[in-house]
Amino acid sequence: PDPAAARPPRQRPAMASGSAIQIPGRLPLLLTHEGVLLPGSTMRSSVDSPRNMQLVRSRLLKGTSLKSTIIGVIPNTSDPASDGDELPSLHRIGTAALAVQVVGSNWPKPHYTLLITGLCRFQILQLLKEKPYPIAEVEQLDRLEQFTNQTKSEEELGELSEQFYKYAVQLVEMLDMSVPAVAKLRRLLDNLPREALPDVLTSIIRTTNQEKLQILDAVSLEERFKMTIPLLVRQIEGLKLLQKTRKPKQDDDKRVVAIRPIRRINHIPSTAEDEDEDEDHDDIVMLEKKIRTSSMPEQALKVCVKEIKRLKKMPQSMPEYALTRNYLELMVELPWNKSTKDRLDIRAARILLDNDHYAMEKLKKRVLEYLAVRQLKNNLKGPILCFVGPPGVGKTSVGRSVAKTLGREFHRIALGGVCDQSDIRGHRRTYVGSMPGRIINGLKTVGVNNPVFLLDEVDKLGKSLQGDPAAALLEVLDPEQNHSFTDHYLNVAFDLSQVLFIATANTTATIPPALLDRMEVIQVPGYTQEEKIEIAHRHLIPKQLEQHGLTPQQIQIPQVTTLDIITRYTREAGVRSLDRKFGAICRAVAVKVAEGHHKETKPDRSEVTEEDCKDHVAEDAKTESISDTPDLALPPEMPILIDFHALKDILGPPMYEMEVSERLNQPGVAIGLAWTPLGGEIMFVEASQMDGEGQLTLTGQLGDVMKESAHLAISWLRSNAKKYQLTNASGSFDLLDNTDIHLHFPAGAVTKDGPSAGVTIVTCLASLFSGRLVRSDVAMTGEITLRGLVLPVGGIKDKVLAAHRAGLKRIIIPQRNEKDLEEIAVNVQQDLNFVMASCLDEVLNAAFDGGFSIKTGLERLNSKL
Ligand code: ADP
Repeated sequence: PDPAAARPPRQRPAMASGSAIQIPGRLPLLLTHEGVLLPGSTMRSSVDSPRNMQLVRSRLLKGTSLKSTIIGVIPNTSDPASDGDELPSLHRIGTAALAVQVVGSNWPKPHYTLLITGLCRFQILQLLKEKPYPIAEVEQLDRLEQFTNQTKSEEELGELSEQFYKYAVQLVEMLDMSVPAVAKLRRLLDNLPREALPDVLTSIIRTTNQEKLQILDAVSLEERFKMTIPLLVRQIEGLKLLQKTRKPKQDDDKRVVAIRPIRRINHIPSTAEDEDEDEDHDDIVMLEKKIRTSSMPEQALKVCVKEIKRLKKMPQSMPEYALTRNYLELMVELPWNKSTKDRLDIRAARILLDNDHYAMEKLKKRVLEYLAVRQLKNNLKGPILCFVGPPGVGKTSVGRSVAKTLGREFHRIALGGVCDQSDIRGHRRTYVGSMPGRIINGLKTVGVNNPVFLLDEVDKLGKSLQGDPAAALLEVLDPEQNHSFTDHYLNVAFDLSQVLFIATANTTATIPPALLDRMEVIQVPGYTQEEKIEIAHRHLIPKQLEQHGLTPQQIQIPQVTTLDIITRYTREAGVRSLDRKFGAICRAVAVKVAEGHHKETKPDRSEVTEEDCKDHVAEDAKTESISDTPDLALPPEMPILIDFHALKDILGPPMYEMEVSERLNQPGVAIGLAWTPLGGEIMFVEASQMDGEGQLTLTGQLGDVMKESAHLAISWLRSNAKKYQLTNASGSFDLLDNTDIHLHFPAGAVTKDGPSAGVTIVTCLASLFSGRLVRSDVAMTGEITLRGLVLPVGGIKDKVLAAHRAGLKRIIIPQRNEKDLEEIAVNVQQDLNFVMASCLDEVLNAAFDGGFSIKTGLERLNSKL
């Protein structure tokens, strides 16, 4: 047999057979503390000293494949603590080795774990370099060619090697052949050249490092045989002793006893786990059965069969064992062929959507259309729906309803902050702790191959050195590619074409364009106060009551209270914090209800658990108004009424009081409307003037576009100062003459940008220089040009809702945005007075009481005179 094909028991196929090994004349040296690597055996070595780390990085991780680099492994016999800068004195003999696997980890500190396979002995002739890692000129010691010359070696060592072989066989035969590792060992004995056996067996049986070191140093074969035989004999005697003390009671027990020794020789000092191993073995058989009966595609099946074969040969102590097993278990579990049957009745779908969601007509309509088309065409090719809108407007919840109408499983994949493509596509299996990506994981969770996947927050995908997750996602969503999506961990294709993807985002601005291109965007605007009240009373409150085990007989929240919460405790486009406030109220009431009851039944409150709170709540409850003194119990069956006093008790003082009019009580303040991914918002603009050299200062974290708007506004006002009779503090029509202007956009921590603040800045400055107050109930939005035209802007609906929330009445919008008003609910429109402006003149006239025309300007001037 070819000696170089010598396969140690733990060796992976990586070390293929080849001609006799010839090691290079120079080797980088790896100093190992933990064990002694012998030729023909494989060892796991943890590397954390700077020297060794350097070696791994520059020799093993760089360049070509691992296999091509032979390193010299030298047992470090000096004190590990002395592993400082100085190179310790080196043991002269070492083992040339291949690194078959390199695993890096940062925990608990940076280190690598190497799986190294010994090839042959060498001795150091001369140290060539010490830093950053030692390199030595070496001489190969095991002349492997000599092994091939069977006759010669047999002549010389015949008797010795025969004796050795007998002991080795005896040892193996004491073990249970049904254990794969033992069977393998047995085969090794037959297949390996005798000369390789001392090293291989020494590394398997129980020996100290000192003994191994002696074997390593035994360069001559004869010496090696001689030294190993006593070690074998010792192990055999140990086994005999063990078997004597644990005489098997039944035949069945034999196996258990017999397994013990193999554990021993694997250096695992465990007794309690023996049964586990037995079970494990059965598990593997089960796993294999599952693989063979599973419905996975041929390609996947092939891989699995190969892996299970490998698994059977692997000792369990190897980390790779667990890795492979996890992999196979996942493969078996994946829903390759399992799907739910779609049921789609458009009429039922409409009813379901309407029942679950109040308002959002546009979205519901579009979703129904989408479902109808899908039903007709009966395939999924086509754009992915993407719901875009502020948080808490029900995007996720509509996604869930879509799944429900189709009778499909639902799974949400949160993409916010994902910046590593392996989050989507998985890690390759070479890493310890490698995992499949979220898509495959999701499929495993739902257990069918046609779920609805909600890709939440696609606008918050990050990017990093670990590759672009958006690109990976693109592959997932592309109907041309996703029927053979390959997760790195699985490494075989999985068909995603049956999955229905729906995406959500707060804004389209940050969705990678290629991704956006695949999607059909449906805007989901925020809600009006009236809509929120309806949603609260139809959906949120009933849900919260149920969750807290309360009934309408125990708690009542009138609509005025809801309105109070909406206007004074929340400021949002959606209903998420509104929902949370109801949660807080329900918790408080649940406690009250329980307490009321306990006063009678169980005075010791410290023992009350949540469970019995619920029980008592369910029975019947003593109720009382929260705002009243708690001792004054009301007659039973009276619900707790949540009025504003109760609100203040539970939620604390209101967080948002109407501040608008207070802030507009001096010249130089105006209210603009801004669009943010969280919905529309009102935005104050403040201006002041002071002596100076005509500087303009802008604060409040503004983007470039907004800064330009400010400059435009000033220029326009300067050129129209005479017309409107605007003067600065020193009475000059040249507004910047000896004057500095400071514009501030409060909520200074929030970055703001966009052109739509143009009209607001003009109005604010016009107020400053005219000394007149802007109407306190007016808000505006619109881009301006140098010549005083007002251009349309986006997000009108959200902005109008924000103004409505803030209680403003008059809203100035660009003329060309008039069409956007159609989308706004009639009752909101009725509350508001819209002014369409096509030029700044019209804006100013609408923003000031009595207008801002030339005439009024002149009147003002006259009155000043
Ligand atoms: P998003 O995904 O847009 O951030 P969610 O779907 O998580 O919002 O909605 C937050 C909560 O508000 C959910 O409990 C949802 O049921 C409820 N909700 C939102 N809009 C509506 C609506 N129109 N009708 C009923 N409930 C709604």
